[in-house]
Amino acid sequence: MADSMNSNLLPWHRSIWTELGLQADRKAHALLFSGPSGTGKRDLALHLGMYRFCEAPTDLSPCGVCHQCALAGSGSHPDLHVLMPESDLEEGGRLAQAGLRYRPEKSSETTKPKRGIVVDQVRRLTGALSTHPRMASVRMVVVALAETMNLNAANAFLKILEEPPPNTQLILVSTDASRLLPTLRSRCSPLELPLPSLSQGVEWLCQQGVEKQLGELLLRATGRQPLTALKWNNNNWIELREELFMLLLQMMEGKQTPLEVAKKLTKYDSSMLINWIVGYIESMIRTEVLNSQEEGDLMVPAESVRKRWPPRFTLNLFRVYDYLLSLLNKMEGPGGLDEQLVLEDSLLMLNKIKTA
Ligand SMILES: [Zn+2]
Repeated sequence: MADSMNSNLLPWHRSIWTELGLQADRKAHALLFSGPSGTGKRDLALHLGMYRFCEAPTDLSPCGVCHQCALAGSGSHPDLHVLMPESDLEEGGRLAQAGLRYRPEKSSETTKPKRGIVVDQVRRLTGALSTHPRMASVRMVVVALAETMNLNAANAFLKILEEPPPNTQLILVSTDASRLLPTLRSRCSPLELPLPSLSQGVEWLCQQGVEKQLGELLLRATGRQPLTALKWNNNNWIELREELFMLLLQMMEGKQTPLEVAKKLTKYDSSMLINWIVGYIESMIRTEVLNSQEEGDLMVPAESVRKRWPPRFTLNLFRVYDYLLSLLNKMEGPGGLDEQLVLEDSLLMLNKIKTA
């Protein structure tokens, strides 16, 4: 059983798990998992949870069959406490199941789900941690997308870190640890989780039923994020992305206006589209500056088209690139900008450079 349970571990986490499993007995009370999104950081946190709760762990592995393992594995263990942004709760998953307990109160039915962790969630967690564990001898607290805590939430969480409740393992999970409050960061043992190799990622995708060639394409397109790749596969986003790039090409050739393009894209997630546009500009910059294309680069306008663009084209590309990155930051931060407006703004900027 031990083998089959550890095969639940994502293959690219196996070696780091050995380190972590050994450490788990030393009870470092706060860990910071950082690394790119879509690589399974939350799965690793949940695996550690199962291991700590398990009644009969063997060889650094949870048994997978006891009551505690079953509850932890499905995200319904009463001593598993999870905070995550409301917008992520809606995406589902085992950790989200546990996170529902701390779902923020909606101010009205029509408000959009919040994209950050709010202080109300942290306060409720603090209250829950003031009692004893309910079923296990330890408690696990997982904060997913910890960098989305606003200042109030982060300060409230700092109090938990400063006076950690007994027998409580805290795990902060972050895709961008540099955005965490330094006082939070300095109280955690950092653990950088790796990206899979291309072959590890492809093999895993194949096991999920994705055809090999498509798996490779998806992995390159997502920057080797297998869980993101699987989501793209399930939603046919490769096709959507190609459609987006066709539209961008047509726009830059003057065959479509930015607003016409924006209109065709309204039903899709704007932040995903903007990230794709940013990737597209990166590819163009690489083509212009290095005069070469890497495998996995996106289709950029043909040279004949680019020649018709003005001489300061590359410089302008960099400007648009910086601008879009700053928009993305503002959109993802607390109280973010409206996504649809940001998308339209991005298209207008990109359209401008060919005539600037
Ligand atoms: Zn067990």
